[in-house]
Amino acid sequence: MKKFEFVRKVYITEKTAPGIREKAKELGISLTTHAPYAINLCSNAKSIVGNSKRMILESLKISEMIGSECVATHVAYYSGLTPEKTIETLKTNIKDIFDKMRQQGIKNVKLGVETMAKESQFGNLDEVVELCKETKDVVPYIDWCHVFIRSGGRINYSELFDKLKPLKLDHIYSHFSNSKYNTISGKFVDVHLPMNSNPSFEPLAKEILKRKIDITIISESPILEEDSISMKKTFEKLGYKFS
Ligand SMILES: [Zn+2]
Repeated sequence: MKKFEFVRKVYITEKTAPGIREKAKELGISLTTHAPYAINLCSNAKSIVGNSKRMILESLKISEMIGSECVATHVAYYSGLTPEKTIETLKTNIKDIFDKMRQQGIKNVKLGVETMAKESQFGNLDEVVELCKETKDVVPYIDWCHVFIRSGGRINYSELFDKLKPLKLDHIYSHFSNSKYNTISGKFVDVHLPMNSNPSFEPLAKEILKRKIDITIISESPILEEDSISMKKTFEKLGYKFS
């Protein structure tokens, strides 16, 4: 599994997309994508909402073309709205995006709503589950590190998988990285570091194996290849055999 990040803009074009699709097929890897960071579907500024819809639609379109299964998206900041109103606004705006998406014949890729680290951002796990419950083809995109940071440096993987249960997902998409502890503020911050114990990976691997969960885990480590291998080794140490 490999991830393409459209962090600032969607840089893959309709011209280059088919080549990527072919290469991934040839190598037997599945792909996921990441929508641009500037998205805020709940902004007070209409132009920002319009641009956000456009960027998500463009990400979905290119993702479908390269054969990506899911687009990780930072959907919104509360922007002064209550969490309830934020969910309502998101539902309406996602419906608009999906109407256009269907018109364009995009039907395989899923919109992944990412769990976010900052209190100002929509996306604690409960909210993400709530949004996904009612909207077809919208799935949670679990950033484990963000959940850890938002809960003040705690994570209970078993509890999290229980919360996802009502969605009856046949596959879970996720990112894994580690955070930095800021000794001055006494808080964990969203600065990606190589594998450390903030949060620990092994308990996650154990829970996945125990529950036989079908999952994608993308490394977001600054040394992503090394840490992908280290995660793979953790699974092997626990007795899992990759085919
Ligand atoms: Zn992200």
